[in-house]
Amino acid sequence: MVFAPVTIEGIIFLVGEITLLILFGLLVFSLLLVWISIVSINTGRLILPRFVKAGMVLVEGLAKAFFRLFGLEDSEVLTFFITLHNTMHKQSFAEIPPEERAIFFPQCLRSSRCPAHLSPEGLACRSCGSCSIGYWRKVLSAMGYRVFIVPGSSFIKRMVRAYRPRAIIGVGCLAEVKDGLEMSDKMGLVSMGVVTQKDGCVETSVDWEKVMEVASLGVDPARIPHEASEALFSSTPSQEEGREGEHHE
Ligand code: SF4
Repeated sequence: MVFAPVTIEGIIFLVGEITLLILFGLLVFSLLLVWISIVSINTGRLILPRFVKAGMVLVEGLAKAFFRLFGLEDSEVLTFFITLHNTMHKQSFAEIPPEERAIFFPQCLRSSRCPAHLSPEGLACRSCGSCSIGYWRKVLSAMGYRVFIVPGSSFIKRMVRAYRPRAIIGVGCLAEVKDGLEMSDKMGLVSMGVVTQKDGCVETSVDWEKVMEVASLGVDPARIPHEASEALFSSTPSQEEGREGEHHE
């Protein structure tokens, strides 16, 4: 058997062919992920979540370009990623006791008349009753959570290093929650995200029922203050009701 001599041109040609094959494989793989994601978004049912999440780590940039090409809004894609993340972490989160969890609220949720000052651990809420945070902060603390109201992700990192929670809930706008979930993955934390209803820098709002739905995962219902569960089953307390909750204490 006689082998043809290996030439430089032959090696370059082979490398070119392998590169093209890899690029083609990545394109097909990204398209497959995007197709599965779009079907999931349209049907509201997550298909192969583990496969999609792992795959997106490899081809996120390419997949984003395809999402845009297919006319999907960035907000739809971000919402999908957050839902995917929450679904995959729900079980592990529920298994961690609330004493080993922390919840982070953005300071934009507070009232513009907020009298609280910024401390090294975030905003030191005075439960003044001008916004709902004061009320729900107490409910969550009673359940066992460490509650922080923070101006940015650097505070989250600092509080995680200081208190070493095993699980966290991050509340914020779409982009903040997406970045926060990625950050917590890198830090080895089990995390869940809740997106605010309104973006902005002041007086944003969040659906407290959604916050409590996540916060209550795996928590003995007896540990949820009676008044809070009643409020959730009827309607989420507004600022006024939150104020009433303060006065009843
Ligand atoms: S209840 Fe709201 S407005 Fe009042 S101190 Fe706390 S965060 Fe600030």
